Amino acid sequence: MWRRAVSVSHFTFAHKSIAHNKDVCKLKFWETFTTETPMKEKGTFQRDKTPFITFVLGGPGSGKGTQCMKIVENFGFTHLSAGDLLRREIASNSADGTMILNTIKEGKIVPSELTVRLIQKEMESSDNYKFLIDGFPRSEENRIAFEQIMGVEPDVVLFFDCPEDEMVKRVLNRNQGRVDDNIVTIKKRLKVFDALNLPVVKYYMEKGKLYKIRAVGSVDEIYKQVYPVFASLNFEQQVRE
Ligand code: UDP
Ligand code: MG
Repeated sequence: MWRRAVSVSHFTFAHKSIAHNKDVCKLKFWETFTTETPMKEKGTFQRDKTPFITFVLGGPGSGKGTQCMKIVENFGFTHLSAGDLLRREIASNSADGTMILNTIKEGKIVPSELTVRLIQKEMESSDNYKFLIDGFPRSEENRIAFEQIMGVEPDVVLFFDCPEDEMVKRVLNRNQGRVDDNIVTIKKRLKVFDALNLPVVKYYMEKGKLYKIRAVGSVDEIYKQVYPVFASLNFEQQVRE
């Protein structure tokens, strides 16, 4: 069993408080989820070395993917975008493809177990132990499913905090041919983000794992806030328990 010698308490960053999310009650259950698959079995992450997990959170267009590419370059993480894994399922005509496509078009959240299993498969088949999990968990239910299925928690959580009008502008201008990058779906995604993702942000803030990044300005300006989070860690310090 491997254990990390690094500790998140070594970080020098201070996080700002995030106001209690008042919008959480505005959504009805059916507005946010498709049919939930029941948990089949509990499991654990099947690897020798304890992974170093970073969750990368933020609204649509907050710059998660762009900043992840820079973190990969500098710190050797493996980047797993939950949205990309789901889009890959659609493209591969998997049994769940149609359901995933319809869920994404509506800006809703795909059943947790499905997403966690996709992430699990990627993590377990990777040679790396450092993972950036981008765009997940999107809800408390997602978070709990990850913890239950994987039996691990994130070490660091980045939150890209960006004003809504800026996020809308970026998504409408990114031209990636995505079915959900239109104004109608963006509005729905923002509503789901406020109601379901912000409670996850608050949860990790209270656990002392959250690093809030002010996600406005140029890519490099934003990265100046991200870089020190990882630079302060010594990833080579792995010790056997
Ligand atoms: N999605 C999901 N669960 C996830 C990640 C993504 O259901 O864990 C779906 C959801 O419908 C979301 C869409 O995939 O709106 C696109 O997610 P992505 O992270 O690619 O987009 P972003 O919101 O970051 O622009
Ligand atoms: Mg993305």
